[in-house]
Amino acid sequence: MAASKAAYSSVSLFHEKLLRSNRILAICGAGLSAASGLPTFRGAGGLWRNHNAVELATPEAFEADPGLVWLFYAYRRHMALEANPNPAHYALAELARKKPGFRCLTQNVDNLHVRAQHPSEQLSLLHGSLFALKCSNAPGCKWTDPYNTADPLCPALAPAAEKNTDPTKPLPLLDPSKPLADIKPDELPHCPECETGLVRPGVVWFGEPLDEGMLDEIDEWIEKEPVDMVLVIGTSSFVYPAAGYAERARTEGRTAVVTVNLELGSAQGRNKIEEGDFGFEGDAAVLLPELLKPVIGEVEAPLE
Ligand SMILES: [Zn+2]
Repeated sequence: MAASKAAYSSVSLFHEKLLRSNRILAICGAGLSAASGLPTFRGAGGLWRNHNAVELATPEAFEADPGLVWLFYAYRRHMALEANPNPAHYALAELARKKPGFRCLTQNVDNLHVRAQHPSEQLSLLHGSLFALKCSNAPGCKWTDPYNTADPLCPALAPAAEKNTDPTKPLPLLDPSKPLADIKPDELPHCPECETGLVRPGVVWFGEPLDEGMLDEIDEWIEKEPVDMVLVIGTSSFVYPAAGYAERARTEGRTAVVTVNLELGSAQGRNKIEEGDFGFEGDAAVLLPELLKPVIGEVEAPLE
């Protein structure tokens, strides 16, 4: 049976359910980072210069032109360092401190959860981190640097860390009519351990598997005891991976799936919402602090 419109959007019913919930799973997507001003590069029009951003995020692209792929990632590292966690990141971090049974899975690689002091044992970085480095010979070579915020990472990547002095114009780096420096592999950092591999971003590229140990641990958590609530934030509860986790975590009559997103999708999508589920349409940075307030109180972002 489809949920009534009231149940779909009632904040007070949501608060009642939240206060009774102990085992809570959140799955966060790009919409959460968009509220911090970070572009998503996904979906229609996800272009970086004249490249399809999705096609830059593959091991094949890195092999073909590591300098180009590194410029794309160096730019994203720079942008993420310039951005700040938003009130939704702080609200989730506080929820983790207030509810030890809360677990947050994020697809975002921008490190903003970590910078909002989200307890690390309650956070899984599904797609890795822009600030982790590994060897392109992995898994053969095990070298990693789990946290490196050098900006630029090396002199050749300096164009990605350039300050925009004229905000009326795009950075030369982002303007496809301006040529890019052709960065040779010799100019990029090499693995200090095997010395043959190039250093690469510690993110999961298209066509690569997610970390098996992390996935096993999440599965174990889901299967251990029934889950009271699944929060789907800044992504759709109808697309992978949120849809998969929501389905696996759902115990009929017990688990509420709660979607917080700029768009809740079509009327058809809404009809798929089950009784007892919730959907809140809008900016997660505005909605989450309000929705979680009965548990977390007033959360203020510290001045950075
Ligand atoms: Zn190596």
